[in-house]
Amino acid sequence: MSGVNLARWRAVPYITSWSSEEIPPVSMVIRDGRIAYADESVVDRDGAGVLWTRIGFSPGVGVPEFKSVHFLRHRRAMRRRLCQVCGTPCGKNALWMLSRKEYESAEGPWPAPVMTAHPPVCPGCVERSGRLCPHLRDGYVVLRPRRVAPAAISGMLYQPTPFGLMPGAAVTIVHDDPRIRLLRAAQLHVTLEDYDVVDPGGMVVTGSSDA
Ligand SMILES: [Zn+2]
Repeated sequence: MSGVNLARWRAVPYITSWSSEEIPPVSMVIRDGRIAYADESVVDRDGAGVLWTRIGFSPGVGVPEFKSVHFLRHRRAMRRRLCQVCGTPCGKNALWMLSRKEYESAEGPWPAPVMTAHPPVCPGCVERSGRLCPHLRDGYVVLRPRRVAPAAISGMLYQPTPFGLMPGAAVTIVHDDPRIRLLRAAQLHVTLEDYDVVDPGGMVVTGSSDA
């Protein structure tokens, strides 16, 4: 990767997909009672045996596709608590930015556990993220969680038919859902179970809002 490409890569969010990172055509089969790639290798499944969508890895090559998330970098960011913007490990400083829509859909009295598909951001990327991310422009809150738990996986559910294996619906299911053997996974979701609101981002997050 050339210096020019590295500079370009660093100018866009870590989890953004690039035009060169294509989803290759795959041949799906049923093996041991679950969907599999005909030419599967050890990197196609995670430690829990979930099959993941294949995607090319060439950040910085082509043009950034800001509306597309790169499955693998997204998963790494979730698992290793990497900042979704700059890609550095956040450790205990991991923050989550919640859009107005996510905040308003949280169940129960605030602060309620919140499920999100967004990876964390580091403290240094909060301001930039709030300015640049379209889904945060209507307002957001910044949360510092004390407990983050794996919640669900979204992806494409395959259906065995007399004519072979057919792609079905896009679903989000929990890890112990038996349908996970028919899922080609794309995104992890986590639940922020216990957290502090460290920056209301211009939104009122406590008190009654009966409007
Ligand atoms: Zn960052």
